[in-house]
Amino acid sequence: MNTQVENMINCKICNSTTDKFYSTTVLQKYEADYYKCSSCGFIQTSEPVWIKEAYSSAITSLDIGLIQRNLELKVQVANIIDRVFADSTVMIDYGGGYGLFVRMMRDLGYNFYRQDIYCENLFAKCFDLEDLPAKTKFDLLTTFEVFEHLINPVEEIAKMLTLSETLIFSTVLAPDTTADFKTWWYVSPLTGQHVAFYSFRTLEFLAKKFNKQLYSNGVNLHILTAKVIDKTTLDAVFSGEKKSFSEKLIRRIFNKPVQEAKKQSLLPQDYAFIEKKLLSKS
Ligand SMILES: [Zn+2]
Ligand SMILES: [Zn+2]
Repeated sequence: MNTQVENMINCKICNSTTDKFYSTTVLQKYEADYYKCSSCGFIQTSEPVWIKEAYSSAITSLDIGLIQRNLELKVQVANIIDRVFADSTVMIDYGGGYGLFVRMMRDLGYNFYRQDIYCENLFAKCFDLEDLPAKTKFDLLTTFEVFEHLINPVEEIAKMLTLSETLIFSTVLAPDTTADFKTWWYVSPLTGQHVAFYSFRTLEFLAKKFNKQLYSNGVNLHILTAKVIDKTTLDAVFSGEKKSFSEKLIRRIFNKPVQEAKKQSLLPQDYAFIEKKLLSKS
């Protein structure tokens, strides 16, 4: 074992030293080493020479959780927007895959667009970053199950922050112990796409680096924003409950529904918009 060489691998996030703590076979043929940062806890793989092969299909056959994940995220994200970022007028789902999340959010009345250079837009055609004027700024950017795919996280996150100053993102926080990491499904060596694993400390470091506040449910959903969110709102945002306790109390006492910001689905107007676009082409 050549420790000299290993010591030269620094953390991609905070540049501290790392320790090689695990090796496995990726895509059933490539030897991959996993390095953990001694300071921020970030875990990175050795140079992912397998990455091209890993993306022969952008969405792997193992990503069977895609539909359920999006169904849950649309509820969670709508809740976050309503409570904290209600004045958002235009939003983007970065690395938005087939466009499922964008379509579902538009159906709920949220003006979302899709971006993904690796995957075909199936469900949100005409509502892609490319359909907007160059340099459009977004009030909010969502990016789900993307961070763990980033080969150069700092660079990529900086790029996201040029699109929007608020990021709502999902990535599952890495387990603390080596033993738990070794059996963690998220490592996903059969697909080879996951090359970056974050701890809460890693996210804290990133927040500081980009001069943002960090909010996290401590498991898989996180927010980087300049906005200060108070404790009560934060609890409601991450509780998964649509209504806070005080609101439910009001409802019980007065036995009437709490005023809600009712959004109109964008479905009818999107239909008309695409129809017009198609007609103008013919
Ligand atoms: Zn680090
Ligand atoms: Zn993934």
